[in-house]
Amino acid sequence: MRRLRIAAIGGDGIGPEVIAAGCRVLAATAAADGGFACDIQDFDWGSAMYRTTGQMMPADGLRQLEGFDAIFFGAVGAPDIPDHVTLWELRLAICQGFDQYANVRPTRLLPSVTGPLREELGRQIDWVIVRENSEGEYAGVGGRAHRGLPIEVGMDVAVFTRAGVERICRHACEIAMSRPRKHLTVVTKSNAQRHGMVFWDEVCAGVTAQYPELTVEKVLVDAMTARMVMQPGRVDTVVATNLHADILSDLASALAGSLGIGATGNIDPSRKRPSMFEPIHGSAFDITGKGIANPLGAFWTAAMLLEHLGEAAAGRRLMAAVEAVTGRGAVLTPDLGGTATTAAVTDAVIAALAGINA
Ligand code: NAD
Ligand code: MN
Repeated sequence: MRRLRIAAIGGDGIGPEVIAAGCRVLAATAAADGGFACDIQDFDWGSAMYRTTGQMMPADGLRQLEGFDAIFFGAVGAPDIPDHVTLWELRLAICQGFDQYANVRPTRLLPSVTGPLREELGRQIDWVIVRENSEGEYAGVGGRAHRGLPIEVGMDVAVFTRAGVERICRHACEIAMSRPRKHLTVVTKSNAQRHGMVFWDEVCAGVTAQYPELTVEKVLVDAMTARMVMQPGRVDTVVATNLHADILSDLASALAGSLGIGATGNIDPSRKRPSMFEPIHGSAFDITGKGIANPLGAFWTAAMLLEHLGEAAAGRRLMAAVEAVTGRGAVLTPDLGGTATTAAVTDAVIAALAGINA
């Protein structure tokens, strides 16, 4: 039988809670499918390790992960450690170390979940946002100078490379082509940012020209926020820079009803290195240890992981089980207006898996 080697890094706060639930569901999905098994190895990296060793992961952490087929990641962030430390030293260290340059976030309303938009508008949300995940505004290039003086400056320089823009745009085109509407929105701000963003537009135009079946639209990022709220049905697949897509994808998850639902893949489309899949939410200290974290984001994440590893039918079966559970509306965690625990939702999804014919 095919065996998928998965590294599970729960991380901090509710991360380990939802990843443990996700691992149970992965095992149950594999059993229902019958064609593969998941070999899951746990890594206790994160803020607890940082407090004792001063490191979020061991020095050879990337080497330890290298041989896995995929990484299933919870969240990082602790009240007593600066966020830029927990983020850069674990999550971003993996994204950058494995060149996971495409951050892919699907968004849609799950059955019976209502977002903040009017019902008929909310139901039009069916998007995939593709975020450039390796350079741009978050390249880490910049500096501070002349501290304390009237001429003091602080700069974050947005870095766009031809290779970097080409590869993210190509990945977005491939995703758009795989979807029924074959529609891609290239988000930009080339009216105001006349160097890097004009370059981005030019490079994207060159790539999209190679996909004649795609309908391609160019939209400025500020107008894009309005479109997502006012005309969600005009959006399908979106490609945007690291900063712009960071903001647009948080807006997307808010419009989908709860932070506890959303899923993301940090993908290396070349497949030379493992990709990393994570629910979009953070460590949520306010509910840690209470047993009420919504595990559905981790389950959606697990479905993306399975699809990436070539088990698309199993991924669809898992999403169908998730939708069966939300659709009944009876077993939901408090963030979705219910009273169920993480464990109860997990049991309900596992029970629903048996009833799905894939
Ligand atoms: P958060 O996502 O942790 O929590 C925001 C709110 O949403 C909280 O009220 C929380 O209880 C709720 N929430 C989040 N996930 C939930 C779930 N699965 N079920 C039910 N409710 C859920 O964001 P925050 O409070 O801004 O950040 C807390 C910490 O997490 C910070 O240290 C931040 O840096 C970190 N963070 C990490 C990631 C990541 O690891 N990718 C993402 C966002 C935030
Ligand atoms: Mn964000």
